[in-house]
Order: sequence, then C-alpha cells, then structure tokens
Amino acid sequence: MHSRVLVLNASFEPLSVVPVRRAVALLLRNKAEVVEAAERALRSMSLSMEWPLVIRLVYYVRIGSLARPAPFTRRGVLLRDRSCQYCGGSADLTIDHVQPLSRGGASSWTNCVAACGPCNRRKANRLPAEAGMVLRHEPYQPRYLAFALVSANPAEEAWRKYLAS
Ligand SMILES: [Zn+2]
Repeated sequence: MHSRVLVLNASFEPLSVVPVRRAVALLLRNKAEVVEAAERALRSMSLSMEWPLVIRLVYYVRIGSLARPAPFTRRGVLLRDRSCQYCGGSADLTIDHVQPLSRGGASSWTNCVAACGPCNRRKANRLPAEAGMVLRHEPYQPRYLAFALVSANPAEEAWRKYLAS
C-alpha cells in the first residue's frame, strides 16, 4: 500500500503519479517537499523519513492545456467517484443528480455523483437533505490531467483534495 505518490506542481495542481522511490529521490535532492505523509515512516539502512503520499515540486512546471476542464461524461463521474457517494458501496453504481433533473438540476460534474441503485431509489426526486442523506464528498469539476490521474490510479484518500482543487 501507499507505493505510489501524487506529485503536485509548485502551484499545488496535480502533475503526475510516481513510485515512492522516485518521490524520495526528488525529496532528497530538494526538488520537492512533503505535503502529506502516512502514519508510518519509511526506513532503510541509511535513511529514516516520512512516508510520502503527496509531494510538491519546488519549481513550477508549465502544463498548458492539460489544466483545462475535462468535458462532462456520465462514465467520467463513475470513474471520478468509484463508489456510492451516499453509502460508500461500490456495487450497482448509477448516476444521481444531486439536484434532480426534474427540479432544474444540470447534468454536470458538480451536480452528478455516483450512487448505488438502492441509494438512488431511496433519494428519488429529492435533495440529499430532504432525504436525510449526506454526500461523502462534494462533486468537483476535474481538469484533464487530474481526471487522467484519478482514472488511472486506485483512489488514495490523501490525494482527493488535490485532485479536486
Ligand atoms: Zn449507496
């Protein structure tokens, strides 16, 4: 576990995902700093340091168009969320409009979340608060690069807030 590390630009935008060994090399050469670390320490014969989960480059790297917003798709919402945003289950995932379509809600990254069939049926034509349900995470608009990273890698909870920004 925690064998991969999220690399942020100096601006805190997500840039890439690298093996922990590569992240440590950047840290030791003072090219990056630790932003989030795991509870346990990383130890070897010559070294004891925090186990990095998220690091930030000291120097800004230009990423251009990859920082643009990713286009909305239903499949994208399922990839972004990976689990029901009401109960946390991962079976039978559907798309829930947080503000229902019939009440003016949009089909957008920030109004759609993954929800399992039972939660979707229970919420029905209501807002979460009306149904006594709470979203586990605010739905966010990913950028191209952040979306590519979150799609290609198992969701690491410590990464989430940086991919969402
Ligand atoms: Zn559910």
